[in-house]
Amino acid sequence: MSLAGAIDLLADAALALLYPHPCAACGVESVEARADAPACAACWRATRVFTGEETLCWKCGALAPGDVPEEKRSDVRCRRCEAEGFTAARACGLYEGALRAAVLGLKREPFVSARLARLLAEAQRRAPLDSAALVVPVPLHAERERGRGFNQAAVLGRALSGRTGLRLDEWSLVRVEGSARHRAGMDARGRRETVESAFEVARPRLVRGERVLLVDDVFTTGATASACAAALRAAGAREVYVLTVARA
Ligand SMILES: [Zn+2]
Ligand SMILES: [Zn+2]
Repeated sequence: MSLAGAIDLLADAALALLYPHPCAACGVESVEARADAPACAACWRATRVFTGEETLCWKCGALAPGDVPEEKRSDVRCRRCEAEGFTAARACGLYEGALRAAVLGLKREPFVSARLARLLAEAQRRAPLDSAALVVPVPLHAERERGRGFNQAAVLGRALSGRTGLRLDEWSLVRVEGSARHRAGMDARGRRETVESAFEVARPRLVRGERVLLVDDVFTTGATASACAAALRAAGAREVYVLTVARA
């Protein structure tokens, strides 16, 4: 085992002593094991986690009304996402309860519980995300990453890569401008225009011809995923799929 691996295990063992731990979603019940962090069993049960059985917009992953037979699911479109630059986007579930708490927790602590890593891997194994071979986290602006100490999308990307064996590339896609702070006062259109030019591929050779799986914590308007996808496609990526912990 590497030294880093040994330190991780020690840190896990030390943190395991802190359990049971209050649930980050309801604050009432307790989380028995770190593997199930950050939420209690009841909050996990109450959270809409996708199973692969639901009818989704094939492209952006929005829940679609009605029940469509499996063989017709790839024809379902919400018609609001036609202009988005990615091939298809999926999430582990809705931005509520345990998944919301997981997203918020990842902004403070670079930790992905075994349960969350399993949900990410399950979502990755479903079509059409299963055809992607290279995991690329959505980058933070360097200054922002220094302030936080880590990039939560990279932490998720490592967890997914570790679990699935998919290759990980944390370096090719970079954020060249536009922090959320500086977008805070803008309307949706202004934010989208700012984010459109925010990403660049520093090492096009590494993404050329690849089917990329872009990883982020949350999918809200899709503007960030779309901008990253456009940069990756411009650099020669063949397809860009998107996987997030939750979607709003
Ligand atoms: Zn709870
Ligand atoms: Zn859609």
